[in-house]
Amino acid sequence: MRKNIVAGNWKMNNDLAQTQELIADLKKQISAAPAATVMIAPTYTNLYPAFEALKNTPVIVAAQNMHQNASGAFTGEISAAMLKSVGVETVILGHSERRAYFKESNELLAEKVNTALENDMTVIFCFGEELEDRKADKHFDLVESQLKESLYHLSKESWKNIILAYEPVWAIGTGETASPEQAQEMHAFIRKSIADAYGSEIAEEVSILYGGSVKPANAKEIFAKEDVDGGLIGGASLKAEDFLAIVNAF
Ligand code: 13P
Repeated sequence: MRKNIVAGNWKMNNDLAQTQELIADLKKQISAAPAATVMIAPTYTNLYPAFEALKNTPVIVAAQNMHQNASGAFTGEISAAMLKSVGVETVILGHSERRAYFKESNELLAEKVNTALENDMTVIFCFGEELEDRKADKHFDLVESQLKESLYHLSKESWKNIILAYEPVWAIGTGETASPEQAQEMHAFIRKSIADAYGSEIAEEVSILYGGSVKPANAKEIFAKEDVDGGLIGGASLKAEDFLAIVNAF
């Protein structure tokens, strides 16, 4: 049975004090056995304090990005080994904001995925179409090429460390969410594509999260869909109450 996962992507929000405050709120309000696996991804500078504060809780700390090289002259960058040294074993790769503002290509993301997996990390791999792709009815092709070019070189074995996050760019931070039917339609397409490439056993095991304006008010309907195994939450992950209401939507 594949896992249900709710992950909070804090993006470039929360300084140290705010991170500590939000984590304290989460710890106060989270149930001992949450309905889904819970993850949060604070900024780099707050990963270690978050990891320390969340020891002995069910919450997993993830990074928002990572460099593809092991070490060296890459000013401003963070390696897999650095993340692991502060307790972080999960990394978000391929977020649409990384793709758009930092020009991360499918090819570069394939390298980052390889590096993360070589370091025994779990990857939350994000992808999704822009509005113009959907209007031109190219969204299925676009999504499949993102998967093919960054992931389909992987061995079958590697897939146990991959979590997928379908995030249509037009739904991120816009308040406009994909309808549960649109999400289900795309998630089923993704699972079929993986089944064609790797067989149905792997396709059935991989968790596919939906991201884009998920809120307490719409989470239940979206998570009820057969091929939606959770969410990657931006804005609504910045308040413990909202984030945990989404976790409890399962
Ligand atoms: P919002 O939930 O703010 O739309 O952001 C989604 C997202 O980008 C999560 O990675």
